[in-house]
Amino acid sequence: MTADTDLDALVAGLRRSPREDFNELEAARRAAEAALPPESTIIPMPELPPLWPHPRSCIVRFLCALECGWAHEENAYECDREPVRFPLGGSLGDVDRVLAEHAEQQGVVLRARVEAAIRGHFAEAHPGQEPPERSAW
Ligand SMILES: [Zn+2]
Repeated sequence: MTADTDLDALVAGLRRSPREDFNELEAARRAAEAALPPESTIIPMPELPPLWPHPRSCIVRFLCALECGWAHEENAYECDREPVRFPLGGSLGDVDRVLAEHAEQQGVVLRARVEAAIRGHFAEAHPGQEPPERSAW
């Protein structure tokens, strides 16, 4: 490779249109998305509660996917009872990390509780049938 071919490659790169740059970025995004393993869940999309000050404004309902009328209910105001502990003298980064870990842990606990309720309902009301799965995103 000579200085001229390096210069030719540089000039060719500068002549790219924004559309070509976008197409390259979009192709990379799609490839990264396709590389992710598909994640599925038995938890149906929740029925969101009515707005406050409705008395059930805190109740999130997970309806049976077989539409039998059953629903598992979670009180959104009571889901997170665990205290958050921050390190004394911690930085803002420490606060951010503690809050992120707390949210992740609470999400795992909530997901396990809802899945257990759904599996329990299927064992009682729909024996021999597995809860249907859906894509988690
Ligand atoms: Zn059911």
